[in-house]
Amino acid sequence: MGSSCGVRKFSCLAIFLLSAFSGWGANGPTVALSVDASEAPRKIIHAQLRIPAKPGTLTLYYPKWIPGEHGPTGPITDLTGLKFTANGKTLKWRRDLQEGFEFHVEVPAGENEVVANLDYASPASFEPGYSSGLSATEKLYIVNWNTLLLYPAGYGTDQLTYSASLRLPAGWKFGTSLHVSNRAGSDIHFSPVSLTMLVDGPVIAGEYLKVVPLSTENPPAELDLVADSAAALDAPEEVWEHYRDLVKQAGILFGARHYTGYHFLLTLSDHVAHFGLEHHESNDSRIEERSLIEEDGRKLTAGLLPHEYVHSWNGKYRRPADLATPETDLLWVYEGLTSYLGDMLAARSGERTPSLARDVLAQIAADLDHRSGRVWRNLQDTADGVPDMQNAPHAWEDYRRGLDYYDEDVLTWLWADVVIRQQTKGAKSLDDFCKLFYGAPSGPPMVKTYTFDDVVSALNQVAPYDWRGFWTERLSNHGPRAPLGGLEGSGWKLVYDEYPSELDRAGDRDGKNINAHYSVGLSAGSDGVIRDTVEGMLAAKAGIGPGMKIVAVNGRRISAEVWRESIHTWCGTNRSRIC
Ligand SMILES: [Zn+2]
Repeated sequence: MGSSCGVRKFSCLAIFLLSAFSGWGANGPTVALSVDASEAPRKIIHAQLRIPAKPGTLTLYYPKWIPGEHGPTGPITDLTGLKFTANGKTLKWRRDLQEGFEFHVEVPAGENEVVANLDYASPASFEPGYSSGLSATEKLYIVNWNTLLLYPAGYGTDQLTYSASLRLPAGWKFGTSLHVSNRAGSDIHFSPVSLTMLVDGPVIAGEYLKVVPLSTENPPAELDLVADSAAALDAPEEVWEHYRDLVKQAGILFGARHYTGYHFLLTLSDHVAHFGLEHHESNDSRIEERSLIEEDGRKLTAGLLPHEYVHSWNGKYRRPADLATPETDLLWVYEGLTSYLGDMLAARSGERTPSLARDVLAQIAADLDHRSGRVWRNLQDTADGVPDMQNAPHAWEDYRRGLDYYDEDVLTWLWADVVIRQQTKGAKSLDDFCKLFYGAPSGPPMVKTYTFDDVVSALNQVAPYDWRGFWTERLSNHGPRAPLGGLEGSGWKLVYDEYPSELDRAGDRDGKNINAHYSVGLSAGSDGVIRDTVEGMLAAKAGIGPGMKIVAVNGRRISAEVWRESIHTWCGTNRSRIC
């Protein structure tokens, strides 16, 4: 996923508590953060920070640019109950007039510590957002520390140390990449870490938790799952086998690992936001409750964990130099190559069968082949514009052209792989680039930045070619059709017929959607309300647009089934490419 991490703005909030301590370390202050999540089922979380301070004005930030989210997505609207004290006396504070994530606290003479109390009003309804989205149910809660803290101005996130503790509802278990220093009942104390690594270490907690070891080699890897029911964790053994193979295959691909231990943190719930968010040593991924125990659910969610895992190498270890600025222009590597490699590892690990993997590629190619926004907007601009556009609505999505640096780059990196194979007469592939760019030496989390020139240089080391020209063309070119050079150069052909693919059938299992992007050029709910249309295709030419409603088809009341039958019948009597 994406959002850039703003080192400048990413200071955190020191929270409070128990045996936690605050003070001054060698590089900067140590903030004690105590989080009380015992009321998580009510969706309100309490936090207290003890922050070293000096008399005068103490400036504190609430994290705004969240690592991996590629935008200013910190949930400032849900920061409530804010109160500052020193030695029991309430302190005056005021929000900055220019920057709403910044607070100025007046510290009296003689005081050297400020205690900040805050409540995080965790969302209670589905709204756009990643870690700021729905995160708590009656049975589970996903702790993202950035939502629960403030941090003092004047320090980088690596210079600030946080000594964090967490109180959970009685009987709840948890999983995280953070190291536990001690535990007493429902209170967990974590070893002090930099603010960077605290935010890198979300915690999943719940009544139902399952731990699946994936690799006992050094460094180890495990899958931690929480769910709204015990039954949701009862997936067939093959599921765990695929994830064990995923860890193995990633090691073969990259030839090194950049973590001390890795935790896949997977939440299974119909009542939390659904997404994946990457970290150095874990990922916070959330899918529907029955995703692992139903075959269609497994098909639809396959690829998520491989994608987030790849980010440990591409996005965390190797990171665009200007993502700390933050600028997003190199997301075609950060997210684009991750999407390609994630899909590749989903196939190599067996999570997707070869046939399903081809379906996924075909769907991406078909979507892009009908993306009307390609006419006006190039791929580079989809990356450049993401901080301001990531929460755009579905209506006009096709013509607006959203986060295409994910999917279009799957086609483009496949093309790069084809070029390498052709230039080296089959001796090398993109695997060699992965080992060179993301590989040895292994070690604990660190960041090694890169620029456009570094990518070109590494590709040239694998296979001399005009890579600068290749990428400049791919990023700036735009037109009405998808870039299919990689797909066709691999010996495949994109075809359309009247039979839905295995992937489409899995997606249609609940019959809630009408997806007619490739036939008449529209998508709609089963109630007939148009979500989007494709400029230049039949529906748009017929005067149909987003928000309108299809009432009936050939005299029959609209439903997804009626629509599909009508299209099928029409195709049977009008053999056409659009079917
Ligand atoms: Zn991603």
